[in-house]
Amino acid sequence: MARQNDLLMDISILYRSTQKYYDKKLANLSLTYAQLPILIAIYEEEGISMQKIALDGGYDKGTITKNVQKLVNLGYVIVQSSIKDKRAKELYTTDKTKEVMNQIYSIRRNWWKHIIQSIPSKKIEEFSYLYEDMAENAKVFADKDDEQVQFFDHQKVDLSFYTDKVSTVLSTAGCNFRCKHCTKRNLIFLNENRMELNLEDIKNFLEKRKDIYDAVCLKEPEPLMHQELAPFLRYVKKLGYLVKIQTNGSYPDRLKSWIDQKLIDFVSLDIKNAPSYYGETIGIPNFNTDIITKSIEILKKGQIDYDITITLIKELHDTNRLKEMAGWLKGVKQVTLMSNPSTMVENYHAFDQNEMNEALHIFKAVIPNIQIKGEAYVSGREA
Ligand code: SF4
Repeated sequence: MARQNDLLMDISILYRSTQKYYDKKLANLSLTYAQLPILIAIYEEEGISMQKIALDGGYDKGTITKNVQKLVNLGYVIVQSSIKDKRAKELYTTDKTKEVMNQIYSIRRNWWKHIIQSIPSKKIEEFSYLYEDMAENAKVFADKDDEQVQFFDHQKVDLSFYTDKVSTVLSTAGCNFRCKHCTKRNLIFLNENRMELNLEDIKNFLEKRKDIYDAVCLKEPEPLMHQELAPFLRYVKKLGYLVKIQTNGSYPDRLKSWIDQKLIDFVSLDIKNAPSYYGETIGIPNFNTDIITKSIEILKKGQIDYDITITLIKELHDTNRLKEMAGWLKGVKQVTLMSNPSTMVENYHAFDQNEMNEALHIFKAVIPNIQIKGEAYVSGREA
């Protein structure tokens, strides 16, 4: 793993170890690590307000109120009305605090001495500045109410995903399934340094090409996880694009809502396996396939154009499961079977021509409109 990806883990270890040390050392004073920075802030700026402590330390109001109340109950702090403004509350330490502050500083000094031992002072100084800047950035960013959709992949032109359309394909990040055969893991488990694409650049791209391109497509990992995608789709529709969404079918209510709002024009529902083997296939044992059935039923109503896609994999789909799947999908308008050797992850293998023919035969018995897509299966069928 790249160095910067470990940084937050290191910070977390440092934080938890520090907490453990302080809680142990402060136990005889009935104090905890959570109260310590607040007590020190009051001691070093007598008369300080709760708001200022919250602002300086990046705390929420509830945390400050709770901890100040504990310090008051323990006799370490008193709260007084300000002489200048009776509504304003000022915090002061008591004599009890002043008596123990040297002990507290000593506990803090000993911990610091221990964790910086054998590290050159120049390095410590540099790290302190760096850490201070990072903490400030984190504080500002955590307060932002940033509900904008984030994209992590943009395939500028695609001529095959939306049949007969010139499309541009965007991907969000994250998925609620854990399929072992997944080819999108880099978009599900994001590295810390994996940055989202600039949304303004994407919008400029779409605005410039609205008369040349037909469609905007959203591919897996699961786009329907992202409620914040809806305003973006509204914007895309206003530009005049068609919208195609690929989904794993686990958000039927949102799917229905976006269809009703006419935010999407085509749905590609990716079915992973027969209901009896669904949980194992998607890495969620005991998964209830009722929600997938609900998505299938929504599409079957015919309110929107759709297809059902199935990627066939030797290790996951035997004859019994194919039969069960075909029965489950009975009544759908169209099914597309796929199995490309070049998109298989390690330990998983695509169907060969004979297996593909057998699958086609099984599905055709129940679903008349069935097609095959895939580089290995070109003879007489769509590639
Ligand atoms: S549903 Fe698709 S994106 Fe999600 S884990 Fe499975 S294969 Fe990957």
